[in-house]
Amino acid sequence: MPIILGVPRETLSGERRVAIIPRQCELLRKSQIEVVVEGSAGVEAGFPDEAYVARGARLSNRASIFEEASIIAQVRCLGANAEAGRGDLPLLRRGQALVGFGEPLTALKGCADLAETGVSFFAMELMPRITRAQSMDALSSMATISGYRAVLLAASQLQKIFPMLMTAAGTITPAKVFVLGAGVAGLQAIATAKRLGAVVSAYDVRPAVKEQVESVGAKFVMLDVDSKASEDKGGYAKAMDEAFYRRQRELLTEVLREQDVVITTAAVPGKKAPILITEEMVSAMPAGSVVVDIAVERGGNCELTQAGETIIRDGVTIIGPLNLPSMAPYHASQMYAANISAFIKLLVRDSALHINLEDEIVRETLVTHEGRIVHPRVTELLKTSSQATEKEVKV
Ligand code: NAD
Repeated sequence: MPIILGVPRETLSGERRVAIIPRQCELLRKSQIEVVVEGSAGVEAGFPDEAYVARGARLSNRASIFEEASIIAQVRCLGANAEAGRGDLPLLRRGQALVGFGEPLTALKGCADLAETGVSFFAMELMPRITRAQSMDALSSMATISGYRAVLLAASQLQKIFPMLMTAAGTITPAKVFVLGAGVAGLQAIATAKRLGAVVSAYDVRPAVKEQVESVGAKFVMLDVDSKASEDKGGYAKAMDEAFYRRQRELLTEVLREQDVVITTAAVPGKKAPILITEEMVSAMPAGSVVVDIAVERGGNCELTQAGETIIRDGVTIIGPLNLPSMAPYHASQMYAANISAFIKLLVRDSALHINLEDEIVRETLVTHEGRIVHPRVTELLKTSSQATEKEVKV
């Protein structure tokens, strides 16, 4: 008998992605995994119920899915869906696995609540960035879509067009785009802006990125800051001290004066995004320019950004888009489904749930298990946050 993978409909308002697309149902079946999908789970992403059935999935209602599935796949588990996600808590149980995004390094209460249900929760955000896990790297997949969509948002908001044109009506100079933070999203933003014909430059705190920026056709802007110690052993940026960020802001002010569009993506895992653009810096930017702050969900790189809003300050438009991957739900779901399916196959042996803690990928993504939070980083963060609360109470 195959093991059952349940795919409930996403419940966060505005979330249009789905965790598993029809094609994956067929592929999973070959690994003895049967997919049971909640009715209309994929509709908003462009995958109607009939397409699931045609690929061998079964349709069911939410409560039955949670009851019969050994593994539940979601885009947003509790933590990444703070309010509506609570509705699923009574449906989860010990001996069941839950796989999806859950913001485990910031949504600590969500982790604690999941632990109480007994469910084994695997957070896709914690996927180690090792070669074997590349096919499961959902953060990279979603960042790719975000970088692309951010540039389209900027292009449609800008009063200018991106490409250089030489016409009978005169010459139009190309738009200047600056990408701040050139990780996965930033590199995709560069590539997209280049394809639209802009002149693109970029900066990242990690010096190793220079070559990658140049390989997608942008100029790397060097800032005179000592960033040798800015990368951790996982290839991510480390949090720097305030003096470092202050110096960065000073130098960036001059760069920003020249730009039509600024896309900001700078982030440090598990931390609030650094403020790299202040109100003062915005007022020094040309009127009519546009900032798209992709880091908004982690607090934003621009101090004026408002989550989910577009504001205009001193003639500069600042956009703080929420959930960019959901704006291209078809391909975002296709990529996510491929990532999550590759991971789920690691959890199944002989048609049963098998949590092999010897496997680095399984161990590093496991947040809650048998009623406890088991991930050392999350446990540590919980300890620090409860100590901070204790101090507040004493004061
Ligand atoms: P991220 O979303 O955490 O951060 C985005 C970018 O912001 C990073 O490039 C970071 O260096 C940059 N940043 C942070 N603070 C900054 C500051 N003060 N000023 C300027 N830039 C700042 O990172 P990400 O995009 O998820 O990926 C980070 C790295 O991991 C990249 O090198 C990426 O290529 C690498 N990666 C490796 C694998 C793999 O090996 N499987 C997969 C995906 C990504």
